[in-house]
Amino acid sequence: MNVTEKILVVDDDPNLRKTLADILRVKGYETAIAGTGTEAIAAAEQGDISLALIDLMLPDMSGLEVMARIKAISPLTEAIILTGHASMDTAIKATGQGAFSYLLKPYNMDDLLRAIRHGVDRQQAKEEILRLASFPRLHPCPVIELDPAGEVSYLNPAAERVFPELGAMGKSHPLLHSAAELIEALRQGKKQEEAVYEAEIGEATYELHISYIQDVNLIRIYVMDITQRKQDEEEIYLLATTDSLTGIANRREFTAVLGREMDRTRRYGTPMALAMYDLDYFKRVNDTFGHDVGDYVLQVVTGLVKENIRAIDIVARWGGEEFMVLMPHSDIQAAKNAAEKLRLAITGHRFDKVNELTVSFGVAAFEPQDDMNSLLKRVDDALYQAKEQGRNRVEILTGEVAAH
Ligand code: GH3
Ligand code: MG
Ligand code: MG
Repeated sequence: MNVTEKILVVDDDPNLRKTLADILRVKGYETAIAGTGTEAIAAAEQGDISLALIDLMLPDMSGLEVMARIKAISPLTEAIILTGHASMDTAIKATGQGAFSYLLKPYNMDDLLRAIRHGVDRQQAKEEILRLASFPRLHPCPVIELDPAGEVSYLNPAAERVFPELGAMGKSHPLLHSAAELIEALRQGKKQEEAVYEAEIGEATYELHISYIQDVNLIRIYVMDITQRKQDEEEIYLLATTDSLTGIANRREFTAVLGREMDRTRRYGTPMALAMYDLDYFKRVNDTFGHDVGDYVLQVVTGLVKENIRAIDIVARWGGEEFMVLMPHSDIQAAKNAAEKLRLAITGHRFDKVNELTVSFGVAAFEPQDDMNSLLKRVDDALYQAKEQGRNRVEILTGEVAAH
């Protein structure tokens, strides 16, 4: 095991990187800091960096370039990208280029520490695998060797444990059977010396790293459970599309869905409507009971809304305490009724500590002249009217009225 778990903090904001490094040291990590890409690369050259936290916007080069150059120096170093809203796309791209994860600024410290822990664990596991790679017997992953006839000639203890039938079944075992052609091609030199093959057995996905070792004329296979990698990918997908407080779609995901629904509406002429809601005097909830209670209220309200919409409706967090509901196949009147039902469900609920709360709704339906901006603006204007007219109500707005 690597005794040092060293985190490199790369950010051009001196206060931010100092605070972060201080917190990480308290959490038991060693730290290094860099204010520019050049400094970050120099730090990586010193070695021993388990994980780098990289701000996307740096004065001398982009965070992506810094990541690529650090990984060129030490391929096992994990990277987490820190980004503002505006460069979210680049951050997502970064995960496709080897970043372990990314976080949106201002990030929640718990989320960041959790991501760092996962990243460091993964880095250490990879190091361990590499260290043991030349000793199949000790290797933590299953290692299988095949003789020139394709029969299993060696299984390390991990292979015997994970695939107890492999010894008896030999090459007819599903793990080997599905890769038989590839193994043969390797042996005959039709493929480069090493190949990676994915095999699914039941719920699990395994990655087979197959190499032909010419000197001894045998095939050696390292089996990685990457089930884990699939889970990481799913985690990244969830991170990118959902709101972490409420678990519903985030603004980005909602915009994507809205775009698709608008296309469908244009194509088939079916109606579609949006409702936008914002809690009334929510600042008072935070000011009186604290932010945690405010968070709890947002979660409960989300639960109430989910219980009171149809399965085809989609609720999303638009930002702060503003939410959107997309209602496919609903005209403005149906959407108004649905919003009224939601308003009553929320105002009728008794929240712990806070007791009663009210909420205002704006409703607008898709109209043929609409693009996404005009529809979003109309529903926002309708909500504004609901606030103006005293709150705790549903207001609708149609295009003709909005145009005046
Ligand atoms: P209004 O009736 O005009 O909507 O009044 P309001 O007090 O609700 O005013 P406004 O909508 O402008 O205020 C939103 C408040 O919501 C301010 C912000 O602190 C709080 N808020 C935004 N996001 C969160 C969050 O994730 N958790 C908590 N607890 N509060 C949040
Ligand atoms: Mg509000
Ligand atoms: Mg608001």
